[in-house]
Amino acid sequence: MSRKPECDYDVVVAGGGAGGIGAALGAALEGGDVLLVEKYGFLGGAATTSNVLAYCGFFQQGETAIKAVGGVADLVLDELRALGLDCDPFCSPTTLNWIILLEPEAVKLALDRVLTKAGVDVLLHTRVAAVARTADRIQSVTLAGMEGRRRIAAKAFVDATGDANLAMLAGLDCRIGNDRGHLQAVSGPLRIGGRDLSVPIDRAALIKGFEVYNQTGKYPSARTDGGIYTTIPGTGEMWWMMFDYAMPDLSSESFTKAEQATREAAQDYVEILRQHVPGFEHAYLASTGPQIGVRESRHPPARYELTSEDLLTGRQRSDGIAKAAWPIENHTVAGEPVYHSLGGDGYADIPLDCLRAKGLDNLFYAGRLIGADDMAYGSIRVMGTAFATGEAAGRAAFHVSG
Ligand SMILES: Cc1cc2nc3c(=O)[nH]c(=O)nc-3n(C[C@H](O)[C@H](O)[C@H](O)COP(=O)(O)OP(=O)(O)OC[C@H]3O[C@@H](n4cnc5c(N)ncnc54)[C@H](O)[C@@H]3O)c2cc1C
Repeated sequence: MSRKPECDYDVVVAGGGAGGIGAALGAALEGGDVLLVEKYGFLGGAATTSNVLAYCGFFQQGETAIKAVGGVADLVLDELRALGLDCDPFCSPTTLNWIILLEPEAVKLALDRVLTKAGVDVLLHTRVAAVARTADRIQSVTLAGMEGRRRIAAKAFVDATGDANLAMLAGLDCRIGNDRGHLQAVSGPLRIGGRDLSVPIDRAALIKGFEVYNQTGKYPSARTDGGIYTTIPGTGEMWWMMFDYAMPDLSSESFTKAEQATREAAQDYVEILRQHVPGFEHAYLASTGPQIGVRESRHPPARYELTSEDLLTGRQRSDGIAKAAWPIENHTVAGEPVYHSLGGDGYADIPLDCLRAKGLDNLFYAGRLIGADDMAYGSIRVMGTAFATGEAAGRAAFHVSG
């Protein structure tokens, strides 16, 4: 498809998380001129902004690792391997879920490299700030960067902002949270340094420490099992998800409170480690991440919403463009995740219409904002699936008629 002369790019991708990387690579591999815009100074989305240090969704749940996502995501894994990460899938013995552990500096560099090799133009420190549109198409986006504003016209656009910022700016009517307006909890995964690696982590001591703290502490944790933790590859640091925060809404005031609470809680939680858990006497807080982890925000209108029934029955379909393979993981109640395994053959097909904006012909969705109902969202939002929906969105966006 040739683009009109007034277009600067074939495809503009907003957001540099897994969805946006997949979209940019997908469109570039189709032969498109692609621009990816990211508001932070690095790529990676939640993996690098919020200490979310495991790719989920690459494999189906079960005793053997059956691959559900390949394509451009494999190019990313190859770059990570070149930087020393083994990227071998790790299986949780309790859930039989397979994950790939990450180290954030490697993720940032691997993503720079993979986009450079694919010839994608990247603008960091730049956010999509406004949209010009006709009744059924986006014509251009206004980008706000360090030097001010500029307008970029393209044949098609991919919203991979996680928060549906592009769709919102285009005036689409977005749902906030679930169908009752309830948002999944945010969490603040922590990186902890200074641990004595010769001492295995004593979960019972951790639980005991929190039993004491929760009686009077200002930031009690709802996770009664000591939380989820692992060792970050190549660092010896502990990755620890223990602090959750119920979000009432998407206001800046609420986000400010959540960020500040996370930082305060992190101080208390490291002190609990130091006082109660052997091997952590010299522990310190390495990072709360540039920002808290946002599980859910806005859902833009799509031409099809994947349903919980699609997932629980493992629905396969001829118009499927990506596989959802992660179990439904629901965080409606802060700190108390609920899991439902997928049915059928252990995955469900995601149709292209989940990636197509309702009401705009040249806007596509990638990553966690694709069309999905409340329950299905708990599966499709993981980063492995986001790479896959991103790739499909990018490829489809390139082929949209100009
Ligand atoms: C606490 C927590 C734990 C999780 N655990 C896991 C896990 O273990 N494994 C897993 O796979 N998934 C996990 N998830 C889910 C997963 O991290 C996200 O759903 C996933 O990152 C979604 O990818 P995305 O590309 O759609 O969005 P994001 O990763 O959120 O990326 C969106 C990007 O868009 C950028 N952006 C936003 N607005 C603009 C704008 N206006 N202009 C330019 N750029 C913009 C953002 O800065 C960001 O980089 C977790 C999530 C949370 C919060």
